[in-house]
Amino acid sequence: MKSSKSFVAFAILSMFAAGFAFAAAGKAGKAGKCCAEAAKDGKACAHKCCVEAAKGGKYCEKCGGSGEMKKETKK
Ligand SMILES: [Zn+2]
Ligand SMILES: [Zn+2]
Repeated sequence: MKSSKSFVAFAILSMFAAGFAFAAAGKAGKAGKCCAEAAKDGKACAHKCCVEAAKGGKYCEKCGGSGEMKKETKK
């Protein structure tokens, strides 16, 4: 049965695709401790190094952050 085989292949492929989507979401950057504290208060971290990193769309690695910031639509 050729058609059932291709269906299984499609099912596996879509599972992989979903897995990738999850992995991509989980791979979102991590804020440094100082930045996380500031974010809790609804503020941006005032550290110069963090501000510079934020400009580049990344979390400050000097302060323990890593990866890229989530892109949020600014008002
Ligand atoms: Zn910071
Ligand atoms: Zn910093």
